[in-house]
Amino acid sequence: MLPKVSLQNQPLKLVDTFKAEVKLPSTRFFSLYVCGITPYDATHLGHAATYLAYDLINRYLTLSHTNIHYTQNITDVDDPLLERANRDDLDWRDLASSQIDLFVEDMSSLRVLPPNDFVKVTDSIELVISFIARLKEKDCVYQVGADLYFDVKPSLVELSISEEEAISIFAQRGGDPDRIGKRDPLDPLLWLGNKAGEPGWDSPFGFGRPGWHVECTAIALEYLDRESIDFVIDLQGGGEDLIFPHHFMSAALIKAVTSRNYSKFYVHTGMMGYQGQKMSKSKGNLVFVSKLLKDGVDPMVIRWALMIDHYQSYREWSSDLLLRATTEVALIRQALSKSEVYPVAGHISELIAVLSNNLDTPRALSIILKWAQQSLDGENSHLLVNESGEMSRTLDALLGLAL
Ligand code: ZN
Repeated sequence: MLPKVSLQNQPLKLVDTFKAEVKLPSTRFFSLYVCGITPYDATHLGHAATYLAYDLINRYLTLSHTNIHYTQNITDVDDPLLERANRDDLDWRDLASSQIDLFVEDMSSLRVLPPNDFVKVTDSIELVISFIARLKEKDCVYQVGADLYFDVKPSLVELSISEEEAISIFAQRGGDPDRIGKRDPLDPLLWLGNKAGEPGWDSPFGFGRPGWHVECTAIALEYLDRESIDFVIDLQGGGEDLIFPHHFMSAALIKAVTSRNYSKFYVHTGMMGYQGQKMSKSKGNLVFVSKLLKDGVDPMVIRWALMIDHYQSYREWSSDLLLRATTEVALIRQALSKSEVYPVAGHISELIAVLSNNLDTPRALSIILKWAQQSLDGENSHLLVNESGEMSRTLDALLGLAL
């Protein structure tokens, strides 16, 4: 349960990837699907920053009395996971389960509220199989060797980039545009026929395992669809590297099966960088939450540091950023521990206003800092008793900061 905070009837506005600014409805059921981790390299700060952004949305909507239903998947069978397990001579199931545990621990240390459903792909094989069966009924599935592909051609008119560019990104992000026998280079895999030594499941299409995009759509449709006329879900989230191909393919698959649009809104987070480059496994510049925690870094300092820059911008992690967050959090704690502080009402109103404006955390943190400085100013004649509790509850409920 979140501490009670009145949001003063300010609806949450977010910047949608395709539609610019959108105002989220505040009084009805709202479904949120955020693509989850592949559990082999959890949890680096890029992941943490992404899940933190949707945590802020989850908190804001919950405090606005919206009945939010939040689903997240776990891609616990996938090429990179199997490759890592092979490399480290581990059973892929053991690797996945230890990394899922670590992810849950990291998220809980950072006070990211858990989703309503946290769904493993390996627990959703039946859903994927029935989703593919529905696609087959619509005649948009074909076979190459032992693998099944989705005929994405009818959806390519929806591409917001050129096909040439799409093919190049597709190749970098798990696609196989050059596979001989495909009808279109952009057709995604739905079901992979089993290769020796790899895990697999029985299905009407042979022994094998699911492709990437179809997992998310099968899970979202099962857990979140309220069968509204226009859209299957309200908001799809994830890092901006998922815009294409993952979210494009998800929308195409859902359209083919349901004849409806997938998500009403799309909100993506910016990438996290370190030492001048996007944090990624291939560059080997990942910074892990668990490592920082092990080194004794306060999780609330990490959370604060991840909010210093805006969630949709490219951000850089650095030791300077961590140092700055440490100093600022100490200042806020010092102010909160005083018996007399600066009156909070005005600052809290401002805080709500900037957060409702596309989660403007950089401005939100500066408002909190200003309040702390005013509270710590011994010369200030406006200080009042019994005010810091309200600030503390607001920081906790809205920003997930327990200080
Ligand atoms: Zn996904």
